[in-house]
Formats: sequence, structure tokens, C-alpha cells
Amino acid sequence: MKRFIASGSEGSLVYIEGEELRHLKARRVKVGEEVEVFLEGRHYLCKVQSLDKRRCVCTLLEELDLTVPKPYLFVYQCVPVELKTMDIIVELLSQVGAYRLIPVLSRRGFNKREVIRARVERWKRIAFESLKQCGRPKPLEIGELVSIEDLPPMHRINLLLDNFGEGKLMKELDFTTVEDVGLVVGPEGGFTQEEAKLLRKRGFISVRLKPYTLKSETAGAMAVGLIMNLA
Ligand code: SAH
Repeated sequence: MKRFIASGSEGSLVYIEGEELRHLKARRVKVGEEVEVFLEGRHYLCKVQSLDKRRCVCTLLEELDLTVPKPYLFVYQCVPVELKTMDIIVELLSQVGAYRLIPVLSRRGFNKREVIRARVERWKRIAFESLKQCGRPKPLEIGELVSIEDLPPMHRINLLLDNFGEGKLMKELDFTTVEDVGLVVGPEGGFTQEEAKLLRKRGFISVRLKPYTLKSETAGAMAVGLIMNLA
């Protein structure tokens, strides 16, 4: 079903305008067609009532379920020096079914806090665009920036994607009954020995992905994809 973001509503009518209206027209939506609409964090099935230059008016038919599949995957991504790579990471993690992406400051990663914070709105927009493509019920959430030293192992299972070739394989872990999983992914240059040691000491379980060394964006997406399909 085609999905759009509403700009407003009145009673049982919702309006699609501006950029979203252009998308809607490009996708050749017709009067009478049913579409999915996001409005103020909720998700509805709607029917197109009228369509003109200025806006598309839809009637609300029913509210749709926003339940997301478990486990909820919290990805702690060390921000790569090449900051633009984060755009790809948002897009990939959204598709494979991560729940929240939390940017992390690490020794070999990008370290300018204010620049990272200024990018959050852009990442949220990318997550929203991706939701329309992949059919997930809620956008990938973008969390608050944290430093790697401040990362507690706060999920049911806490994993460290270890670039030192140590660790378990995903299939050795049981994800079938867990509610949430935390996954720390290193930047392009990897974790330093000290960072990896600190996280292992705190209780993060090292995992390795077979057979080769992956780029940071590939590693995170592959790990999430594996977990979502083993759970
Ligand atoms: N240049 C680094 C590799 C960094 S890869 C080195 O040689 O050590 C970037 C990040 O992706 C790593 O920190 C790790 O979190 C993850 N990663 C890449 N390949 C991986 C693999 N095969 N197993 C586990 N994690 C991996």
C-alpha cells in the first residue's frame, strides 16, 4: 500500500500537501484509492476523497497497528569519520528492522558533538522516507548521542561487534524469547583495544561475523538482519 505523511487533519479528514502531495501525484494515486497515512505519530488507513493542485483530502477509515516485531534492536553505532556514511547506516538499519539507532562517540570515529547533533533531524527524515519504502510500521528511532565510555549493558542481551576476530557466532546465541538486544558497532577504523576490552569487561558479549571483515555500515545491518531472522 502507498504511504504518505499528512500535514494536518480536521475531524475525520486528513490533508496531504507540499512535498508529500508531489510524491502522491508521482505515484499516480487516484480518487477512491486506499492509502496509508502517518499523522502525529499514528498510522491510518484512508481513502482519497479529492485531489487538486493544492492538496489531497482523505477520509480516515481505521487506525492501523503499530506493533513492531521483537526483539527491539538498539544499535549503538560509533559515528564514522566520514559522517555521510551515517545516512547509509540509517537507511540500512531501517530496512533490516532495527528499533533505535544511538550515535556513539568513539576514539577512531567522528568526534564533533555539535555537528552530530545538528544531523539528527536529517537522519530522522531519512528514516521516515525509508519507512515508506520498506513497509515497517514505525520509523527507526534516532537516540541521543552517547560516549562509548558511558555505555552500560542495559539490554537483555548486549553484543559487541568485535573487530578483533574474537567472539561468538550469532547462531550460538538464543534470541527467540528476548525482548530487547543492544548491539555496539565500531567506526570504519574499528574500536581501539582499550574500548573493546572495556565493553567486554562490562559484560558485552563479543560476536564475530563470518567470513570477512566488513565495513561498519555492512556489519551493523548484517548483524541486525541475522538477529531478526534468528529470533
Ligand atoms: N579497520 C578495522 C575494521 C573495522 S570494521 C580493523 O582492521 O580492525 C568496522 C566495524 O565493523 C568494526 O569495529 C566492527 O564493529 C564491525 N565489523 C566489521 N567486520 C566484522 C566482523 N567480521 N565481525 C564482527 N564485527 C565486524
